[in-house]
Amino acid sequence: MDRLKTEIRESFLSAGAVAVGFARSEPVSEEESARYSKWIEEGKHAGMEYMRRHVELKLDPRNVLENAATVISLAFSYAPERFRDDSLPVVASYAYGEDYHDVIRRRLSPPVERLRNTYGGEWRICVDSAPLAERYWALRSGIGRLGRNGSVIVDNFGSYIFLAEVMTTLPVAPDEPTEALCAGCGACVSSCPVKALDADGSVDSRRCLNYLTIEHRGDWAGDALEVMRSDAGKHTLYGCDVCQRVCPHNVGIKPTGMEEFRAKDGIMSLRAEDVAAMTQADFSAFFRGSAMKRAKLDGMRRNALNVLNRE
Ligand code: SF4
Ligand code: SF4
Repeated sequence: MDRLKTEIRESFLSAGAVAVGFARSEPVSEEESARYSKWIEEGKHAGMEYMRRHVELKLDPRNVLENAATVISLAFSYAPERFRDDSLPVVASYAYGEDYHDVIRRRLSPPVERLRNTYGGEWRICVDSAPLAERYWALRSGIGRLGRNGSVIVDNFGSYIFLAEVMTTLPVAPDEPTEALCAGCGACVSSCPVKALDADGSVDSRRCLNYLTIEHRGDWAGDALEVMRSDAGKHTLYGCDVCQRVCPHNVGIKPTGMEEFRAKDGIMSLRAEDVAAMTQADFSAFFRGSAMKRAKLDGMRRNALNVLNRE
């Protein structure tokens, strides 16, 4: 079985992952279960109702793949070479390149197919596509440490990473879980421009610019409206990186080596005026292959009009 583990690790590193770790597939710890339930009960998932629906499913990875024996946790770096010019409204750097869902699945499918043909068993690739407690599994499989801003930080690669999982019914020896935490400087909490990060590191989606400009559907109201009318809200076109940009673990890291995640010129120069003028056909053409299509035309137009003070 050591040969299998080595082959899996090497295959996924060759596919572009910067970290690969293994954990036994079993119910999540009581501590994790309680933490997640509390976050939901406090309403911090905002309008993401699927998260509430998935509470039970997330407790056991075997709900995602029956008889799964191993969760393989992977990190792919999207660390940007540069950020958008500060004069432009913010676009989260994870969206500078191609849609990670497509890219990672495309990269993982051939090695997973090869492994299935060689060793048998059931395999499933998950890229934000299944109710898995992915940060928990990343820590359990030892690939990173937990940041106070809720991110998983991979040594030498920082927190500009996408997490993905490959599950298999084949047993593979687990890696040592990580209990290490970030440097704990508190810069993420104090720098969040809209006070969406609590001191315990939990993100309140009801105030977070990522949620409000990407996942939130319809008009903003109440606290959300107040956040979006603030200076930071008015400078946000799609998502936010502040709590990552201030993190010392992201200083001096190498930019992503994956061509697909390199910044596209169109995204780097996109203005709120461009988005506000888009028809559905323009939107579909411009954002084809981009994660930004997730916000949909209505959401992107709402964000753009807010930036332009034309709400
Ligand atoms: S992504 Fe931005 S708004 Fe959300 S918690 Fe981090 S700094 Fe705050
Ligand atoms: S900014 Fe500081 S406290 Fe926040 S995740 Fe990074 S090291 Fe931890």
